[in-house]
Amino acid sequence: MAQNKVQYQRGLSMLEFFDGYGTPERCEAAVRAWRWPEGFVCPRCEGTWHSEFRRGRRLYFQCSGCRYQCSLVSGTLFESSNLPLPVWFTAMHLITQAKTGVSALELKRHLGVSYPTAWLLKHKLMQLMFEREATRQLTGRVEIDDAYLGGEVQGGKPGRGSPNKVPFVAAVQTTESGQPVFVCLSPRPFTKDALLAFAERSLAAPATLVSDGLGCFTAVQGTGIRHEPHVTGGGAASAKDPRFLAVNTVLGNLKTSLSGTYHAFGFAKYGYRYLGQVQYLFNRRFDLRTILPRLARAACQSNPCGLRAVRTAEQYC
Ligand SMILES: [Zn+2]
Repeated sequence: MAQNKVQYQRGLSMLEFFDGYGTPERCEAAVRAWRWPEGFVCPRCEGTWHSEFRRGRRLYFQCSGCRYQCSLVSGTLFESSNLPLPVWFTAMHLITQAKTGVSALELKRHLGVSYPTAWLLKHKLMQLMFEREATRQLTGRVEIDDAYLGGEVQGGKPGRGSPNKVPFVAAVQTTESGQPVFVCLSPRPFTKDALLAFAERSLAAPATLVSDGLGCFTAVQGTGIRHEPHVTGGGAASAKDPRFLAVNTVLGNLKTSLSGTYHAFGFAKYGYRYLGQVQYLFNRRFDLRTILPRLARAACQSNPCGLRAVRTAEQYC
């Protein structure tokens, strides 16, 4: 049987991970190189002359020009916690290499931290992944479907119209032959206004939207996006329809991943973050070896995200 090149590619092995990021010094060297590739630059006066010292485990810099002090991680996502960098890096490694996601409970066990700490760490990283994907635009052939996050509700109606579920749009850019390339997952109601807003944000002409003909998808008419509805009648027949193979595969994997990894979470409040994480990892699946350094570099360039910001679940910290 032919191996799927994406699925069977070499990831970043545990040994390679420890080799690159297994000690506080190696993590510090990596963060330093990403933050200040040309050497320390004072965030206040942009001077480069400085001295270095440690307070506890943390590395600090003092600008020789204006006397400003900052730590290696101040002003980055790693700032607002006292967690050592190797804990952050191990969490990022586990999250980026896992095929089906890692729950906060698993992180707690692997990292030897409390559950609230693991939860917060995970949500900060998911928020970062969501933000990195916020400008993603799909073009060319795009399969689109509506779906729901949330457990089955006994007695509830399946599919569209079910109560207690968070509706989201799944759009998959494919090659002309239907191979998935990039995905966009966006929580929103299935109304024409919401779909129009989705199209303006996440689709770039020339694009052809392939849908099952749900009324709201016609909203793209007049925006320069072509709409190609195929009315399938829903159910098992539409799930097997080759014209929707890419989006149905992505939705199937998403369902397996969420139901196997997470037993319960606030879909209504945090669903966009889980979808953001799935989207981030999917869109970088072609190169598993660089996901960790890319995410860590993004964390170095991202603002600190405090507990309140994580809890209020604004779509941007
Ligand atoms: Zn300075």
